[in-house]
Amino acid sequence: MRRRGRGERRFSAEFSASAADRTCYIVFGMANPRVALVEDEPDIAEVLRFNLEKSGFAVEVHRRGDEALEAIRKHPPALVVMDLMLPGMDGLELTRVLKRDPGTARLPLVMLTAKGEEVDRIVGLELGADDYIAKPFSPREVVLRVKAVLRRRGGGATATDARLEAGGIRLDAEAHRAEIRGKEIQLTATEFRLLKILLERQGRVQTRSRLLADVWGYAEDVDSRTVDTHVRRLRRKLGSEADRLETVIGVGYRLKP
Ligand code: CA
Repeated sequence: MRRRGRGERRFSAEFSASAADRTCYIVFGMANPRVALVEDEPDIAEVLRFNLEKSGFAVEVHRRGDEALEAIRKHPPALVVMDLMLPGMDGLELTRVLKRDPGTARLPLVMLTAKGEEVDRIVGLELGADDYIAKPFSPREVVLRVKAVLRRRGGGATATDARLEAGGIRLDAEAHRAEIRGKEIQLTATEFRLLKILLERQGRVQTRSRLLADVWGYAEDVDSRTVDTHVRRLRRKLGSEADRLETVIGVGYRLKP
């Protein structure tokens, strides 16, 4: 049973009265970042739409994966939030198609996953989804995660690129310099790249395959123990900040912000 807040009730009533037979409805916002929400469960879609709009997003809801794809291609939003189990085309396939198309490859993607979809979640991250949120979730959390992904992506190409930090770890990409609490540490080129990517994506789990692809430039199927070995070495060099580089069992690694 989901707990229903005031806003949710309002939306459910409105939904059943007006939009129940529509597959898609669009709310336009002027300067508000547009979020495409792909979710076939009306209650969840409405709760999320309500909360995202309350936070200043313009939201368009799609109930089918194939229809979402068409709409996203025509008019790419700032970010896509998608359920995995969808009619028409499932979330993983949608992710695959969006990533393959240069016009949509860089769109930030957040996946909603239900219990029992562990494997799909990992595949989703490997395909390049930016974050996942496990159901049941609080709508507030979804809003925060959406904002975080947009913030990370928005700042990706500017100042944050040159200088990155998490706790006592600092990395200056331009100077090719890494420091732990003000003391420079010596990293190999690979370790430097690995640390940079983990810092850029701090707080988010990175699967081994994703790291292999982004740090080493390898396609899948290369021995993922390569990643483990380098993470181990990097962790040792991080000294007092070593605990920040977490192992997420069965998935990959995450740098604690
Ligand atoms: Ca679903």
